[in-house]
Amino acid sequence: MQTIRGFRDILPGRIGLWQKVEKEASRLFEAFGFKEIRIPVLEKTELFARSIGETTDIVEKEMYTFDDRKKDKLTLRPEATASIVRSYIQHKMYADNPIRKFYMTGPMFRRERPQKGRYRQFYQIDVEVFGVASAYIDSQLIYLLHNLFKNLGLTGLSAHINSLGCPECRPAYQKTLLNFLEAKKDLLCENCRRRMSKNPLRILDCKAQTCQDAIKNAPAILDNLCDECDNHFKIVKTTLEKQNVDFIVNKTLVRGLDYYTRTAWEIQTTSLGAQSAVAGGGRYDKLVKELGGPDTPAIGFAIGFDRLVEVMEQLNIEPLEPGLDLFIIAMGNEAMDKAYHWSCNINQNGLRSETDFQGKSLKSLMKKANKLNAGHVLIAGDKEVKENAFILRNMETKEQVIINGDSLLADLINILKKQ
Ligand code: ATP
Ligand code: MG
Repeated sequence: MQTIRGFRDILPGRIGLWQKVEKEASRLFEAFGFKEIRIPVLEKTELFARSIGETTDIVEKEMYTFDDRKKDKLTLRPEATASIVRSYIQHKMYADNPIRKFYMTGPMFRRERPQKGRYRQFYQIDVEVFGVASAYIDSQLIYLLHNLFKNLGLTGLSAHINSLGCPECRPAYQKTLLNFLEAKKDLLCENCRRRMSKNPLRILDCKAQTCQDAIKNAPAILDNLCDECDNHFKIVKTTLEKQNVDFIVNKTLVRGLDYYTRTAWEIQTTSLGAQSAVAGGGRYDKLVKELGGPDTPAIGFAIGFDRLVEVMEQLNIEPLEPGLDLFIIAMGNEAMDKAYHWSCNINQNGLRSETDFQGKSLKSLMKKANKLNAGHVLIAGDKEVKENAFILRNMETKEQVIINGDSLLADLINILKKQ
């Protein structure tokens, strides 16, 4: 049996970087007042169709959708924002405190062509803020991403930012854009021609080179913002500048989802070929209301966890690999019996120890201790058991001490905890 295409195992040998990211992300997010939320992987199809948008790539061709036995249409979540909005509304979180800050990590599912940095089950770290209209929160989320990546040792990433306007200024812009596109219609791909009437902004996001060429000189929404949107974007930029967060204003950035308003951004890398976005986010002030909640401004981002780890691997960033505190070399039945109980007890105290029950020689067990990168080795052979005195070797300094069997556990735990 094999995994299905686009799905993969992440094995213990590679998990160190994942854990490092998760640890640092939750530390940082908690410090900034975010709370973890956990949401289902399966939702009604309608939730995603209505929020992400009927004419987006995700909804048109990437979702895993099926009928369950009672004929409800269900979809494996392709992203987290829609579900978190659903949760915010369903539990009436707006009622006592409309300002909510969430983060979550988990698998997402999109049926795309698998390649490096692109999988059918992939992972996202997702952050959402509800109830804050201020541009400061836009800057803060970009600042947060910037610092998370910096703390993880990442280099060579750049933040691309843009504003997508709002229902005040976007309709007029869409008309200007449509006029431009009409003249280029023959150069556009079939998909884009079809989208033209429904959602011309999507064309700006088309990955086909022919479309990219055709729209090179298209009018930009950034040059057609209303005063409020323009002001909002200015605050985002000056705040980022004051915090020394480098960014590039990218007028062609539109992002792949329909629900965005105003600030949108992407963190891009040059090291993963065509899969250049490591994270993406934006403001979506209209979505909560559209899905049946009260008018509530909101904003969020998602990090592509798989891609992030791939960039970290390329940069040779050290994974989180907690070493072994103690390896117990036990030779003979009596020693093994003691070693078993010692080891359990030590682990129970939060220290990492291991032993081996295969009856191997001292030499091969020493090799194993080295391979496991053990900080200390305790030697228990027949002689040590008989004398009730055991040898503890510090593998780094090579110092050895003798520990009396009667007080062994307490002494061991003391020594190991000091390391
Ligand atoms: P792309 O343009 O690369 O398809 P996207 O705009 O569809 O990305 P978003 O919906 O914004 O992606 O998701 C946020 C992040 O999740 C992306 O920036 C990317 O890092 C990651 N991501 C998206 N799709 C995949 C996938 N199929 N496999 C791995 N990571 C993905
Ligand atoms: Mg995509």
